[in-house]
Amino acid sequence: MMWHQPPPATLGLMRSRPRDEHPGPGVVSESAGDIEETPDLQGAYPRLDDAQLTTLAEAGRRRAVQPAEILFREGERDCDFFVILAGKVAVVEGRGTPEERLIGVHGPGRFLGELSLLTDEGSFYTAIAVDAGEVLAVPVAQLKEIISRDTALGDLIVRAYLARRAILIDLGAGLRIIGSRYSPDTERVRDFAARNRIPYRWLDLETDPAAETLLAQAGVAPEDTPVVIVHGQLLRNPSNAELAAAIGLPVPASSPAGCDLVVIGAGPGGLSAAVYGASEGLRVLVLDGTATGGQAGRTSRIENYLGFPAGISGAELAERAMLQAQKFGAQFAVPAEATSVRRDDGQYVVRLDDGTSVTAAAVVAASGARYRRLQAPRADYFERMSIYYAASQAEALICRGDPVVIVGGGNSAGQAAVFLSRHASRVTLAVREADLSENMSRYLIDRVQRIANVDVMLGTEIRELLGDRVLEAVTVEDRQSGAQRTLKARALFVFIGVSPCTGWLGDLVDLDGHGFVRTGHDVPSAAGTGRQRSALETSQPGIFAAGDVRSGSAKRVAAAVGEGAMVIRLALERARQA
Ligand SMILES: Cc1cc2nc3c(=O)[nH]c(=O)nc-3n(C[C@H](O)[C@H](O)[C@H](O)COP(=O)(O)OP(=O)(O)OC[C@H]3O[C@@H](n4cnc5c(N)ncnc54)[C@H](O)[C@@H]3O)c2cc1C
Repeated sequence: MMWHQPPPATLGLMRSRPRDEHPGPGVVSESAGDIEETPDLQGAYPRLDDAQLTTLAEAGRRRAVQPAEILFREGERDCDFFVILAGKVAVVEGRGTPEERLIGVHGPGRFLGELSLLTDEGSFYTAIAVDAGEVLAVPVAQLKEIISRDTALGDLIVRAYLARRAILIDLGAGLRIIGSRYSPDTERVRDFAARNRIPYRWLDLETDPAAETLLAQAGVAPEDTPVVIVHGQLLRNPSNAELAAAIGLPVPASSPAGCDLVVIGAGPGGLSAAVYGASEGLRVLVLDGTATGGQAGRTSRIENYLGFPAGISGAELAERAMLQAQKFGAQFAVPAEATSVRRDDGQYVVRLDDGTSVTAAAVVAASGARYRRLQAPRADYFERMSIYYAASQAEALICRGDPVVIVGGGNSAGQAAVFLSRHASRVTLAVREADLSENMSRYLIDRVQRIANVDVMLGTEIRELLGDRVLEAVTVEDRQSGAQRTLKARALFVFIGVSPCTGWLGDLVDLDGHGFVRTGHDVPSAAGTGRQRSALETSQPGIFAAGDVRSGSAKRVAAAVGEGAMVIRLALERARQA
């Protein structure tokens, strides 16, 4: 259903006019020319130099723009990459709706767009010329070619686009999610958006009067919530797949019935297999049940990944890797959960949760592991409302200014404490072990201990979760003395280890006692053959495992990436035999 908007309210920037109407003189208000450029505080809006403009000009077309001319609209795909040569362009969200708001204004030398231009999702805003000027329009295919050829220019654009996506997430631009904080589906939809790094604003039906007004205008009953407004379309309690389709998340262009390699999981291991496999000429399809990035996408900063002395956010690492894999021709499908795999005439048929299947000569199991749930009374009740298994930008927005408790004593918990301390009023780290150094790296311990609003409670366990509808406090017990303390907490972050995602493999491959995939010499040699397996080969020829899903893996981003790359040599051999 299309979302019918009430009459437009303008920004006072310019009068709105119907789509594609040619602007007449005086469409721009008197003050338009005075609108100031948005300052570039985060490196998101760099100005191109003459050499870079020349490179882009060779692939594009210069053209004049009129005041109030629309360069691209919210929801539009396949629009050009625009560089402003003269005049100013405003970037506006929700144009023509009561929620219309100005995101930024850009002048000569700056370029428009954000990450969605490269990932083929619809644009999250509309770009409108403020005054008469000139732009350079470069088709996206040519832009992608320039990005891979000219590393300095490519890096400048990709970096700016990543920063712009982070700004949109912070601003709460993009999707509108309207639903109650007590609704598990509201939390599911928000989590899906957050994991896929889709900017959104949540209107809580319980507290936000605008939520009810919007629902009334759209004729939606509260029981039909959550609703999501995406690119002008209103979706009632959409499934993750419906939401992905409306946003324009990647789905294979056509059903790739025969690809060389299907990779299950788009965490660091799967993304690496995609980059190296596609760059070696394999036809690669990557499937992920939730989002690209895997566990790494749930962390705000990875500090021990080679080559990033200042650290890198898991989201940025995933976004960069996905762009890189797509550049080499890898295809992605998200959300697409593998439910089973079987052998068929020397090939493998992977069945997906929507009932479709894909066939390939080789399979890389890079399905990693999932967080363990907290075993405490009422944990199920608070699960989707106040308990989180990630500490990224999205969660930071939710608990801004509130006290939070983190359970766990490993690096994930330590990173979460450092990150959340900048957003929450107080952070308590409840650790089961008597000493932080049992599971946390030294550099993180030092950092955690230096932060004034972080308290560490060693040798403790969570006993009770308190609150009527949302979490208000938790009771923490000292494991030795049995003494209990109640701590205020609006959110509980749980980082207490992971379990492997191997259900989809059924009994086709050997698993260890904890359910992780055995590879290499951990697999008992086939009776009589005495054949030794390569390090990442499972008990099934043609099924390989990389990253956290593998028995005995290092549980590190770098290790998963390394294994994702290594596995490609085996996949190439397999593809040649097929
Ligand atoms: C909060 C946190 C912080 C961390 N910090 C660091 C750090 O600083 N440094 C470091 O080196 N490591 C860190 N780690 C560990 C690191 O993230 C993991 O080792 C790494 O992500 C493993 O990569 P992977 O590709 O093997 O699996 P995962 O990252 O687990 O990715 C697996 C992917 O497979 C998908 N999947 C699962 N089952 C299916 C299925 N049936 N069908 C389709 N898709 C499926 C999942 O949705 C997921 O996206 C951290 C982990 C967490 C949770």
